[in-house]
Amino acid sequence: MPAAKSPRDIETRLFINGEFVESSDGKTFDLKSPMTHEVVAQVSEASESDANAAVAAAKAAFPAWSALGPKERAKYFKKLATLIVEARHELAYLEAISMGRPVSGYFDAFAAADSFNHYAEAGMLALGTSSLNTPGYMNFTLRQPYGVAAAIIPWNVPVLFLALKTAPALITGNTVVLKSSEKAPLTSAKVAHLIQEAGFPPGVFNIITGHGQVSGHVLSHHMDVRVLSFTGSERTGRLIQTAAAKSNLKPVILELGGKSPAVIFEDADLEKAAAETQHSIQWNSGQVCMANSRIYVQESIAEAFVESFKQKFQAVAAGDPTDEKTNHGPLADEMQYDRVRSYIDVGKESGKRILGIDHEAGRQNGFIIQPTIFLETPEDAKVMKEEIFGPVVNINTFRTEDEAIAKANNTEFGLYAAVYTKNIDRALRVAKALEAGTVGVNCTSPTGARDMPFGGYKASGQGREGLTVSMDNFLETKSVLVKVEES
Ligand code: NAD
Repeated sequence: MPAAKSPRDIETRLFINGEFVESSDGKTFDLKSPMTHEVVAQVSEASESDANAAVAAAKAAFPAWSALGPKERAKYFKKLATLIVEARHELAYLEAISMGRPVSGYFDAFAAADSFNHYAEAGMLALGTSSLNTPGYMNFTLRQPYGVAAAIIPWNVPVLFLALKTAPALITGNTVVLKSSEKAPLTSAKVAHLIQEAGFPPGVFNIITGHGQVSGHVLSHHMDVRVLSFTGSERTGRLIQTAAAKSNLKPVILELGGKSPAVIFEDADLEKAAAETQHSIQWNSGQVCMANSRIYVQESIAEAFVESFKQKFQAVAAGDPTDEKTNHGPLADEMQYDRVRSYIDVGKESGKRILGIDHEAGRQNGFIIQPTIFLETPEDAKVMKEEIFGPVVNINTFRTEDEAIAKANNTEFGLYAAVYTKNIDRALRVAKALEAGTVGVNCTSPTGARDMPFGGYKASGQGREGLTVSMDNFLETKSVLVKVEES
């Protein structure tokens, strides 16, 4: 059972320098359930001075934290990982009432704990290199933390993103200010309590929330933030990169949106391909960066594929996300709902819609969007080009491999792509040709591998995250040149 049962139990404050504080100007924003439309919490909105205070606290904590060895830092990580797992039901509940994620299948707490546990050990592997290649010199590199790292996360899988960014940043000796999304701030605030309980020194790990304007803007422009890791929309990614360029040229890691294609050849296991591609675009009501929102099916099997896909896609259990039986919750909020609705309206003009119900009925019963399929949509239509971020899929056809590749790559995004075929040569040819940071062969998103780098080609981002690469994102490299005199 969730520990937080009423708004009184829910933490809504900012966590700065080891203490929970209201916003300095007293400003709050209402967080409404996307299912019941009731206000579930009034959340402190970080002001400019709060964001500055969080950065100042992190800066002050940096010398002592960076002086510790990774083993000492790791003690806090292990404790935090245990506490996050213990809090999993409450975290699932908080996500359900704030952004509508069904509690069924809530995996984020385990994944986040895994991340803290992994980096607790991996911190010892932050190593430099040495070289004797210059005669008369013994040269080596030092890997050193940047100082204050900022993390800005979206609302769709918040606790996981919190862990994926802050764990590698902290274990390598940086101190952190995380800004959670205004659409899903409650789980990050809960994790702040766990951070306090785990005993992290004040100022090492700060958590604030609020809208992009003001606090996100302050962090991205801040002269004392030395590195920034962001997950969110392409639009905000561009603003953050511009802010970095205008301020101190802080490196930014950008994990952005997608318009991911799945290509299904006629020799594929049709049932498996239909089941997995529909799960990809249905899970989290389609609010997933790597969801396969464009599916290309070889013409000869298109009819059978669409029929199978349709049956599976419409068999969702839509409803209250706090109900264990629900696997299709509402969209995160009214803004997200209206956005997806407007894409569906536009899509009706450009393609043939074969699923999806009357929107207004959905609004009254929570911001639920029924699974929607468009067929025969021109490749240059708006719904083929822009990220919709809802349970809306375009299924188009192709005849040849070349045509499939050309259509799949005809996008400015490049986060994830999938190919289904039993022909190994074709699978590998297509995997090589697809312009995406991750390609699934006979599998699709959300399939991932924690030891593989994750990130986007083209406008889907810049840089990579993952167990083997994330520590690098938070470490400077210093070359030390040591002249050794001959005896
Ligand atoms: P968003 O860009 O609207 O917001 C993300 C975060 O940025 C929020 O915390 C928000 O408050 C903050 N923000 C907004 N404006 C800002 C500004 N001017 N300066 C600094 N921060 C600002 O994205 P969203 O709606 O929360 O998330 C959905 C998007 O995230 C989708 O595009 C999705 O594809 C993408 N996403 C990408 C990945 C990935 O790994 N590539 C994963 C999940 C989500």
